[in-house]
Amino acid sequence: MSRRVLAMVLLAGIAAGAAGAQGIAITVHPSRPLIERSDCCQFLNFDFVATNAGAVPAELIEIRVTGVDRRGGVLFVKRLHGQARLPGIATVPNRIVPAGGELAVLNPFHTHDRSVQIARLDYRFNVRRGGDVDTVTVVVRPLEYVTRTRLVVPVIGRVLVHDGHDFYAHHRRLDITRFKDTDMKQFDRYAYDLTLVDERGELHPPGNPRIETSFGWGATVVAPGDGTIIDAENGAIDRLPGAPPFDEAAVGTDYRQFLGNFVVIDHHNGEYSVLAHLRQGSVSVARGDRVRAGQRIAQIGVSGEGGRVPHLHYQLQDGPDPFRSEGLPSSFTAFHRLRGTTRIPVARGQIDTGDIVDGSPGSGARVSPPRNQP
Ligand SMILES: [Zn+2]
Repeated sequence: MSRRVLAMVLLAGIAAGAAGAQGIAITVHPSRPLIERSDCCQFLNFDFVATNAGAVPAELIEIRVTGVDRRGGVLFVKRLHGQARLPGIATVPNRIVPAGGELAVLNPFHTHDRSVQIARLDYRFNVRRGGDVDTVTVVVRPLEYVTRTRLVVPVIGRVLVHDGHDFYAHHRRLDITRFKDTDMKQFDRYAYDLTLVDERGELHPPGNPRIETSFGWGATVVAPGDGTIIDAENGAIDRLPGAPPFDEAAVGTDYRQFLGNFVVIDHHNGEYSVLAHLRQGSVSVARGDRVRAGQRIAQIGVSGEGGRVPHLHYQLQDGPDPFRSEGLPSSFTAFHRLRGTTRIPVARGQIDTGDIVDGSPGSGARVSPPRNQP
């Protein structure tokens, strides 16, 4: 077995993909990887795409990362190896890069201590083809992103982040190779599904698990930040029992159908908010309207691909088009974390999957009882 180290390509800028003479290339997505910081941690939410221009399939057998600070000092070395009887690399579910094809790999080293000052990440991917092992190196220079808009949690009540954008969340796991022949981007990268729960953490009253009885159905949606409505839809049906099911095929020709009823807000600073799956007829704003943070604008519904749990899909992004923009990290202001019987006021903070927060605007607000409007 021979081992070859492929040339490292350092692109001026933030993320560098590396290409090897033997036809394996690895690129980083998005092109400007961001650091999202929370109270405890920093999260590196980006993907790799491995492309195999050769005629033989390649197998990813090891990933290693070295974190480096601004002065060049090594912060940490981590790896997923393929050598043990139960190899860590098996936690990357898809590891074969087909001949002439590509493979998306989510960054497996996604969470680091908040205090670590990462300037650079040196990745090494070991790839086996036939009897050869090639090493492809990739350099990533992530930049911390600080949300520009003063955002409030856009749902009123005891809000559960039903699905956020941590490593295990479905928003995080979109396969970006599906977009390769389009101008679509990973719009879901930092998205949230927000709904309401009661003190038990349940979505419905005991013994009554229907969409119409869930605490999220009809809950008040507010503008997350000041801005101008630049797009809105109010006439899409809710996918209640008996309604025609969501047509996945239709999304292929019109992605707006995925959103159902929705609102897009331009915050006039390069940030845009998308709020989706709103209740039919509940959207009280229209294109051109100015809105203020905390202003009531709609109710939660199950329009578009709203699923069986009524929720608000919310994402902050870098452009006006819901699908042709990259997602951005969003931090929220003036809310409470609800932890057991303790309410923790937060002046500004990050939320993610599993968090329960008081979404009422204003840090002094009481927890509203779950709303359940007919
Ligand atoms: Zn969602």
